[in-house]
Amino acid sequence: MAGQEPIPVTRSSMPTPEEYFAEIAPLWESRWLTNCGAKHQELQSKLEEYLEVPNVSPFTNGHIALETALQALELGKDGRDEVITTPFTFASTTSAIVRSGLKPVMADVKPGDCTIDPEKVEALVTERTCAIVPVHVYGNICDNDALTAIANRHGLRLVYDAAHAFGVRTQETPVAAMGDASMFSFHATKVFNTVEGGAVCYTDDVLRAKLEQRRNFGLDGEDEAFAGGNGKMSEFHAAMGVCNLRHVEGEIARRAATDARYRERLSGIPGIRFVAGNQPGIRWNRSYEPVVIDPKAFGATRDEVFSALGEQGILTRKYFYPCTNEFSCYEGMLDPKATPIAHKLAQNVLCLPMYADLTEADVDRVCGALLDSRS
Ligand SMILES: *Cc1c(COP(=O)(O)O)cnc(C)c1O
Repeated sequence: MAGQEPIPVTRSSMPTPEEYFAEIAPLWESRWLTNCGAKHQELQSKLEEYLEVPNVSPFTNGHIALETALQALELGKDGRDEVITTPFTFASTTSAIVRSGLKPVMADVKPGDCTIDPEKVEALVTERTCAIVPVHVYGNICDNDALTAIANRHGLRLVYDAAHAFGVRTQETPVAAMGDASMFSFHATKVFNTVEGGAVCYTDDVLRAKLEQRRNFGLDGEDEAFAGGNGKMSEFHAAMGVCNLRHVEGEIARRAATDARYRERLSGIPGIRFVAGNQPGIRWNRSYEPVVIDPKAFGATRDEVFSALGEQGILTRKYFYPCTNEFSCYEGMLDPKATPIAHKLAQNVLCLPMYADLTEADVDRVCGALLDSRS
């Protein structure tokens, strides 16, 4: 409508400029701008405390963190090169596997919470399988007990893409302590950001040297190196993280109020199903607000809703669409028909605007436009 401000699908959390400037001011004294300086150390230990995990290794972004974790675990070295994973994710999960010289094998997801289905995983294990890479999609936590049992039974590594799961609290194992390693993303669009950034979290101390050597060109501190990359987080990024971490619980609380308003307005509307944040006993982080639209029951398709909201200046995201096994670069390697549940979710899911600054009036405008899009 004319005169109405556009509503973005997401908006980055930031400290005040004064808070950030105070955090970076010491860097003009020390001239230590990167290579694991004081801010990096501070962020690392604060994250270990917040995420309740003994080891956090920060990285320049989540994608490189995931690739480096797969490489540090030396997957593929013994000739086993298949990694069972999910196609209902961001491009990064699948490409990290492929770029590490490994072969993704796609298991279908559960229609309820969109996480990988352990029964489908077990059915796909062969002598060539070396690892499972599940995704805590939208902050919904995977069935860690079942996946751990499968990994133990078959001698597989378990590496989580936890990019969406920052701040999710469970009653038993902390999310960051699940599996052999977990990758978190601190990208600008995530619940907690360092502008660009990410981390690998793990409980086994032995991994630290392997990860951190690969984060720093493969240098071993003596005269040797192997073909590592560069994944170091700078002091300026770490300082942003130190600031944002102070406020993250407040940001999650504000997102929770937004989520509650969405549910108040849309629960019980025929053909609208909330697919995140329904797991019992879990403090969800409200990372995204995905709804699955059943076109027959609702009266409009996902694509029609997407366009109708777009015309009102309301940006939504088809996230995830398409599934990663539908990308043409994987044609002949992956069969999109092998994961029908993921395919159907990708056709019907829509992420509504969700961020800490979203007002109740904005949520009402989004819900009104969504309901009006019915024919
Ligand atoms: C954001 C994201 C990544 C990549 O993280 P970056 O920090 O942007 O590199 C990987 N997997 C998923 C599921 C993500 O949402």
